[in-house]
Amino acid sequence: MFKLTRSDLFREAAYVGGQWSTGNSDAYMEIRNPATGEVVGRVPSLSREEVREAILLADHAFQDFRRWTGKARGAVLRKWAALMLENKDDLAQIMTAEQGKPLAEARGEIDYAASFLDWFGEEAKRVYGETIPAPRDNQRITVIRQPVGVCAAITPWNFPSGMVTRKVAPAIASGCTVLLKPAPQTPFSALALCVLAEEAGLPKGVLSVLTGDAVEIGGEIIRSETVRKLSFTGSTPVGKKLMAECAGTVKKVSLELGGNAPFIVFDDADVESAVQGAIASKFRNAGQTCVCANRFFVQHGIYDAFVNKLTEVVKGMRMGRGTEEGVTLGPLIDSNAFSKVSRLVDEARSKGATVLTGGTQHPAGAQFFAPTVVTDVTNDMTIANEEIFGPVVSITRFSDEQEAVALANSTRYGLAAYFYTSDLNRSVRISEALDFGIVGINEGAVSTEVAPFGGFKESGFGKEGSKHGIDEYSERKYICLGNVR
Ligand code: ADP
Repeated sequence: MFKLTRSDLFREAAYVGGQWSTGNSDAYMEIRNPATGEVVGRVPSLSREEVREAILLADHAFQDFRRWTGKARGAVLRKWAALMLENKDDLAQIMTAEQGKPLAEARGEIDYAASFLDWFGEEAKRVYGETIPAPRDNQRITVIRQPVGVCAAITPWNFPSGMVTRKVAPAIASGCTVLLKPAPQTPFSALALCVLAEEAGLPKGVLSVLTGDAVEIGGEIIRSETVRKLSFTGSTPVGKKLMAECAGTVKKVSLELGGNAPFIVFDDADVESAVQGAIASKFRNAGQTCVCANRFFVQHGIYDAFVNKLTEVVKGMRMGRGTEEGVTLGPLIDSNAFSKVSRLVDEARSKGATVLTGGTQHPAGAQFFAPTVVTDVTNDMTIANEEIFGPVVSITRFSDEQEAVALANSTRYGLAAYFYTSDLNRSVRISEALDFGIVGINEGAVSTEVAPFGGFKESGFGKEGSKHGIDEYSERKYICLGNVR
């Protein structure tokens, strides 16, 4: 299935308190390659007792790790980043086998994932507090920042490494310890990262990767009084449920949930760059990202030019196994994802939408949905209201700016939005009017470790990346010194 330079990076075990564990029962989960259906490997389904043990070990490790200097924690993170880059090809192969994305994209994700370790490796030295002039002359007020404690991170399958480091790096930089539950479809990328973390000098117990049943593991860590924080990336329904469960122990919570991003093309846009941006934002990871453009709104005057050019590019895209040279689009993650995308396209077609290309299964395999362009989409179609999470461009025509903004904002989600225009004043007006946490103007690729990533409305709250990322893993403590003479 893959030829790794370092075969020890592929681990069929959970990582608990610094030990590799095959679990204390025979229960396991099988992971299949979404491109071929072949079994990639298996990981143990940990029991509740093992999860409780992992929590104890994380708490124990925290008592020591919290006293480390930021400089020392940062050095480990930066070494870990360097090791990821050294082993990029192996990590990319593991990712492509379990997730399906083309190898070039997987390599790109390793760079992206390592960038969070590197960035927060620097930020670890800058978890600044403040001093505040006191209202009484015999008092002194300071504010220090301290790690939250033991944190839980629950991550999705679409970025098996990137979503892990985006949470784990700021937690470690701040001095927390982390219990990570990776998506059941993609545990091997997370486990490979543990091998390298250990090599970089991360102490035992600071990071554990718990494999097994989501509800059992999730339930155990969320009910725990020891776990003080949950960071979750995944679907909105699961996020809402976990947020409610966290109320039981009043955990600090950050949520990165569904998207439904609008992509608006105004008459004055540059067609070439709008098409390029549309491809970048729509087809990354075969359309399976939460910032993927989900609803295209194109103004009358530029409509034909944009749609024709985009359809031509989409028709030329190469879909296939991620290991094949030149392939830019892989499969969907599983058969449920395939059925959902098919259902959305079929329903749109039956309600009057036009399929210009694609719209069916691709010959590459069972879970490959052909790159698709659908026009004449109206708001009564499910495709206009739900996250597609597949390689399908869904286009609606609009007449004026007001209508475009109203259409774009008419969603319960608020993660990313994109628009193309060459009018400076319009770019200011629209960027301020869009109710989304991330706005790309004449840009379709917005993710970077240096900027705060996070949504509004039902897309969640909390920022990942940037100098603000540490806020989610630290508490401000106000210290008042009185009776100073
Ligand atoms: P998707 O699979 O569409 O990305 P999910 O929200 O189902 O979205 O999954 C995201 C992550 O949440 C995965 O790691 C999954 O295992 C986990 N998860 C799903 N349901 C629960 C639950 N009830 N408790 C804890 N974790 C869950």
